[in-house]
Amino acid sequence: MQPLALGVIVPGSDPLASLARVQALGLSTCQMMAPSAAWAAPEKAEQVRAASRDTGVAITCIFHHFPGETYTDIPTIRRMCGLVPAQFRQERLQIARQQADVAAAWGVDTMAAHIGFVPEDREDPEYRAIVLAMREICDYEHELGLRFGLETGQEKSTDLRRFILDVNRRNLGVNFDPANMLLYGADRPLPSLDVIGEFLFGVHAKDGNWPQTPGTLGQEMPLGQGEVNFPAFIAKLKAVGYSGPLTIEREIEGEQQTADILAAIEMLRGLIAG
Ligand code: MG
Repeated sequence: MQPLALGVIVPGSDPLASLARVQALGLSTCQMMAPSAAWAAPEKAEQVRAASRDTGVAITCIFHHFPGETYTDIPTIRRMCGLVPAQFRQERLQIARQQADVAAAWGVDTMAAHIGFVPEDREDPEYRAIVLAMREICDYEHELGLRFGLETGQEKSTDLRRFILDVNRRNLGVNFDPANMLLYGADRPLPSLDVIGEFLFGVHAKDGNWPQTPGTLGQEMPLGQGEVNFPAFIAKLKAVGYSGPLTIEREIEGEQQTADILAAIEMLRGLIAG
């Protein structure tokens, strides 16, 4: 794979259609939302491997997601998303294991997830419980040859670094989304690369703005129109030695999404070559 090989994040509901869409966009990589457990069956897995070969599209990461997650506003995200809400944790760990089984059957080597808002206070009993849950899923995925990237956004980079060190598993790293850090009003992406740049397994190319009002989410923007500063961001990724894939994410739907993705590809190709 080329350094900073461009890709896009795609749905997992129809993996074969998603691979065809990535090929049609002229891209060589993608991250895919985890498909249903049925896709771990040998004949289904072989269909995906064959489609990946035929389209020339590598699946660089499978993204965990869980029933009931809603990303409408920060209080809802705190209550409903990831592995942090205690009432859903055991059920979701089981779902995560099934999703990892699919990735392993496909020969994919990296998972990622938003795990939710990890408590900032290390003395909070829930902090310890989340560290233990992360060890459990990291160890399960390690046995399958998988790495686990924590999607950035919901915490400061220094807190994320401390959490990674506390979990203390070598297959735990970061899926770096520069826009999320801004959208959540959590941290500034460029200086954050100095803090967690050594842990990057994946990077999202998404843009956005810091929230206007504390406690609300900022606005996602087409690439180049938000506050990330992509020329500086790409230069900084190179400076910290990141050479993995660069995965475009645009969280709208329809024709405008396709138009924004095509514009992002054009802009990023120039920056990567520069
Ligand atoms: Mg993202």
